[in-house]
Amino acid sequence: MDAIQKNEVIEGKVIDLTHEGHGVVKLDRYPIFVPNALINETIEFKVIKVKKNFAIGKLLEIKKESEERVEPPCVYYHKCGGCQLQHMTYQAQLNMKKEQVVNLFHRKADFKDTIIHDTIGMDNPWFYRNKSQVPVGKNNENKVITGFYRQRSHDIIDMDECLIQDNMHQDVLNQLKLWFNELNISIYNERKKQGLMRHVVIRTGHHSRELMVVFVTNGKKFKQSDVLTEKLVAAFPEIVSVKHNVNDTHSNVIMGETSYTLYGKDEIQDTLSDVTFKISDQSFYQINSIQTEKLYQRAIEYAELKGEETILDTYCGIGTIGLYMAPKAQHVYGVEIVAEAIADAKQNATLNQFENTTFVCGKAEEVILKWKAQGIKPDVVMVDPPRKGCDETFLETLLELNPRKIVYISCNPSTQQRDAQQLAQRYKLTQITPVDMFPHTTHVETVAQFERR
Ligand code: SAH
Repeated sequence: MDAIQKNEVIEGKVIDLTHEGHGVVKLDRYPIFVPNALINETIEFKVIKVKKNFAIGKLLEIKKESEERVEPPCVYYHKCGGCQLQHMTYQAQLNMKKEQVVNLFHRKADFKDTIIHDTIGMDNPWFYRNKSQVPVGKNNENKVITGFYRQRSHDIIDMDECLIQDNMHQDVLNQLKLWFNELNISIYNERKKQGLMRHVVIRTGHHSRELMVVFVTNGKKFKQSDVLTEKLVAAFPEIVSVKHNVNDTHSNVIMGETSYTLYGKDEIQDTLSDVTFKISDQSFYQINSIQTEKLYQRAIEYAELKGEETILDTYCGIGTIGLYMAPKAQHVYGVEIVAEAIADAKQNATLNQFENTTFVCGKAEEVILKWKAQGIKPDVVMVDPPRKGCDETFLETLLELNPRKIVYISCNPSTQQRDAQQLAQRYKLTQITPVDMFPHTTHVETVAQFERR
């Protein structure tokens, strides 16, 4: 094959999709990745980057369109970095997510007998985010803007609408934007590292409909907080908590360590099934409540509880999974590395009057060794690690603990596949279900069931 040249214009057929949702065209066996192209489309593209093992193309024209292509409903879609798959039908997105799991477990590894179910999607895959973290800036005309960052940059795209965040959030944001202008609120400039208002964070209890608004400012002095809070609370009766968070670092972290309550409660509450959770401005809480319930439901089914089990909830966050299972278990032990999350988990256990839970702050790989030394013999172990997956000693100890079932939830199926190979010595990977926690984005979440051989 002649070497491909930069700027060359090529016509080709898309034969595959990457996990980022980019179309793959192959010339001989050399892949060219073309964003926004879909499988089975015939496209014309311009080569914009040439590397040894692959090239990147820019879509110029679709000669033959896929039946799975739709007009992205969001007007900001091609600029904003938030969503990546709005140009596909929702069913095609769900299929693509399942296909990725099939590829990892059936083709790239030897789990041929594992059942991989269809991705569990949403009936209405819009307005699902219960948390919005929106940067505030100014445009060239010195007007306040709020929105999301352009792909791979920190330029704010001014938005009046976002189709994946809770409906009410945008109403609050649009109103705040007007008041920021009217009241001449000082706005943070990221380049100069000067100015006051940096972000507005909004959280909603999906079921409770309680709303929290957090002003994140550079520095503690925030003169107009009273008047802003007064206006907000008068306009939106759903708001039960207004907070002020101080972030005077110049990093990409959105919130600083200290928060003050300007109005109402320190936290909002929400329920998942029958369990109540307190959520503070800083707590980790699953973003998509509707899908979280479906995910946990599937996880409970996979655990096959009879009511007498000792359960470990490892990488437990604020203890959501363990607390969800507590009514059906003898005892739940949770471990999590973030101290505040463990404090939340304990508080939530008390709030729900569960007396059969123990939450420990520490590294899962260390605490699990201690539990083993204490003679704790789990029947079921829940595993829900961050993207990098589990530590090797953690998996070794898990094998030695020899529980009847392991239920492994993952936000990164490729590390889950790696870890599954280690567990396969003694466990059969019976089934996996992908659950769509983040429609229109490329994130894939899965729950897997392992049975002792
Ligand atoms: N199970 C929870 C949270 C899962 S997110 C839920 O469903 O809401 C993964 C969690 O693992 C995070 O809370 C993160 O803080 C925690 N974590 C990361 N590394 C860890 C480690 N080595 N030991 C214990 N917890 C860890």
